Amino acid sequence: MAKYTGADCRLCRREGQKLFLKGERCTSKKCAMDRRPVPPGQHGLGRKKVNEYGLQLREKQKVKRAYGLLEKQFRGYYDMASTKKGVTGDVMLAMIEKRLDNVVYRMGIGASRAQSKQIVTHGHMQVNGKSVNIASYQTKVGDTITIKPSKKDNAIFKELKGAKIVMPKWLTFDTNDFVGKIIAEPQRDDVDLNIKESLIIELYSK
Ligand code: SF4
Repeated sequence: MAKYTGADCRLCRREGQKLFLKGERCTSKKCAMDRRPVPPGQHGLGRKKVNEYGLQLREKQKVKRAYGLLEKQFRGYYDMASTKKGVTGDVMLAMIEKRLDNVVYRMGIGASRAQSKQIVTHGHMQVNGKSVNIASYQTKVGDTITIKPSKKDNAIFKELKGAKIVMPKWLTFDTNDFVGKIIAEPQRDDVDLNIKESLIIELYSK
């Protein structure tokens, strides 16, 4: 019998793709999506064809789970995006990408979005020199993101010093002085998940 790997991995298997919820484990041989890429449960392989609504729902769940958002928060991003200029799906994803917890993750400071959220809520981060402990805080182009000086020696940042981190082109983070910057708006191709946001827009705009 396969070893139970925890609820997070079940979510990836349910969505049929890696959502990168468990940090280093996600790129290791232990990743459940690499070892058993089928839906969880006794009837995982026997699921019937899904209808249009089912597809839309799955797509929404995938994004919510990947970013660790509740329904109300996620719906809020859609509502805000639909009032702004531009393609609603792109605007919505850009807003979610610019959440402080996601920025901390994408800069490589946290190993997963969940850990990054914890780093922010535990008061380790500053935006433009001011302490911010709100995970959903909307960053903007020009913001400077730093680890609070008094927290730099914390064990969670030990392996960060001098590390080479691959990050999206809208961000920079210097692993020597722990200073990062938002240098551009995130674009649709910066989102590192296989998402069909048009299905989510169809679902919400009914
Ligand atoms: Fe688990 Fe991460 Fe693999 Fe998802 S990507 S199945 S969370 S190890």
